[in-house]
Amino acid sequence: MSKLIKFKVDFDVDLQAYVETKYPEYLDYRIISKSLDARGAPRGKKPEFEYILEVIKKNEEFSELKENYTAKKEFKSPPLIIGAGPAGLFAALRFAEYGVKTIIIERGDEANKRMLHISKYWKKGELNTESNVCYGEGGAGLFSDGKLITRVKSDFIHYVMKKFVDFGAPEEVAYLSNPHLGSNKIRKIITKISDYLKENGHIIHYNICATDLLIENDKVIGVKLSNGKDIYSEHIILATGHSATKMYEKIQAQKIAMKPKDFAVGVRVEHPRAVIDELQHGKYYESDLLGAARYRLSHHDKETDKGTYSFCMCPGGYVLSSGTESDGIVVNGMSNYARNSRWSNSALVVTVKADEDFSTDNVLSGMDFQRDIEIKAFELSKKYADGRALPAMTVGEFLSGKLNNNPLPKTSSPSGIFKADLTEIFPPFIIEHLRAGLEVFNVKMKGFAYDEALLIAPETRTSSPITILRDKVHFESISHKQLYPCGEGAGYAGGITSAAVDGIKIVESIMHY
Ligand SMILES: Cc1cc2nc3c(=O)[nH]c(=O)nc-3n(C[C@H](O)[C@H](O)[C@H](O)COP(=O)(O)OP(=O)(O)OC[C@H]3O[C@@H](n4cnc5c(N)ncnc54)[C@H](O)[C@@H]3O)c2cc1C
Repeated sequence: MSKLIKFKVDFDVDLQAYVETKYPEYLDYRIISKSLDARGAPRGKKPEFEYILEVIKKNEEFSELKENYTAKKEFKSPPLIIGAGPAGLFAALRFAEYGVKTIIIERGDEANKRMLHISKYWKKGELNTESNVCYGEGGAGLFSDGKLITRVKSDFIHYVMKKFVDFGAPEEVAYLSNPHLGSNKIRKIITKISDYLKENGHIIHYNICATDLLIENDKVIGVKLSNGKDIYSEHIILATGHSATKMYEKIQAQKIAMKPKDFAVGVRVEHPRAVIDELQHGKYYESDLLGAARYRLSHHDKETDKGTYSFCMCPGGYVLSSGTESDGIVVNGMSNYARNSRWSNSALVVTVKADEDFSTDNVLSGMDFQRDIEIKAFELSKKYADGRALPAMTVGEFLSGKLNNNPLPKTSSPSGIFKADLTEIFPPFIIEHLRAGLEVFNVKMKGFAYDEALLIAPETRTSSPITILRDKVHFESISHKQLYPCGEGAGYAGGITSAAVDGIKIVESIMHY
């Protein structure tokens, strides 16, 4: 029987040599988990890696996770998946395990062609409303840091990591406590996943949008497509992501049960990477073994009961323009696997509460709240720049409350930035909480409120502003049979891994109930 052992070692220790010396009784080992503890580094303590290893002696074998993919389920028509983001693609992959072929409808282009559309947007301001940072094969996660960490607890997380490794991710993804793929790797992996699906009889229709649900007696029987055709199925997985505003409007009109939910909006803060590395890793900050430093900061305002927190941190990354509408600006972040750009960025966002910060009389008011901010940012860009550059100011300017005449520091963003007063974009409560949050973060991580760090706006699409209500056991819409709201857009995920897990959960339910 294999055994698990757990220990901490200095970050620069050679693991193999260490295990051979310390545990000579074991023949072999494999890493189950590896996490960095650099909490004492700013005070000079050497960072450590904490490992959990599975170890075996002679004549023993490593444990293996075996899954059973047998289920007696007949399909009159192939399951239909709307959206080829992580939720939709992992739903298809899971169906494939059972030998069930699916049809996938994706409004955007193939993963390997998306960059062509996106670079036109970043460099020339020409947005393709169907293929962009959020739309297209691979979904919103394709141009991301590819962080795979999730707060969701699920037995399927291991499956998701294993699948990523099977399709080309580094082995470490299966055991690191904070795995990430980087945008460059994730694009290749997604292409391999869709190639595998196609080779196994699944059909993916690209550049075709599902424009409407076909409904008969409170049952969704199919979808209308932008090419004028209708397509029918008894199982329709709606995995259109959090930016599918037109789909939200359609399903609201069709009386699919939904409710507004809280979300968060704010800015991207961008520091020179060396500043963050030194704040977090102290005198060890130049070591390649530690990589670009991460941080996670949060502050809860007791009086307003609102959180201000960092989100989707991209060490050694880039700030992106990630909008989907031609009259709005949205920012987000990404990094490549090496996390080696000269900057590190993160969202700094403030909780926006349904019924308090926007009215819930209309279920889509949260979406209007987001859009209003995005439109204001675009109007400012048109007025002071070219409608493409992103509004920005320094942390020093933001905290002092006034813009100075100095040029802005250099940014990683391929869209460029221009100086703007961000108080013109956000409601006052967002500005107040961001200011208070920055002051607190500067105490928690001394030097974080670095004068020359940039605040780039607006980060509005942190999560879906609505939940599409579904049955807790079968995951079917509570108002309409045969419709399975799925992933981030339906309000059941907040990231690549949790979206993938949600797709898998739905398939398991369809196969077994
Ligand atoms: C720039 C950026 C960086 C990110 N970084 C990370 C990160 O590092 N780690 C992390 O965990 N998460 C990250 N996220 C969030 C993550 O990408 C999402 O949580 C995840 O992709 C949600 O998966 P999903 O499948 O539910 O939806 P999506 O990924 O949004 O996919 C939805 C898909 O549906 C398609 N679609 C929409 N409407 C229609 C329609 N009507 N007809 C047909 N197709 C349609 C879209 O084109 C899209 O491909 C990032 C997001 C962005 C934008």
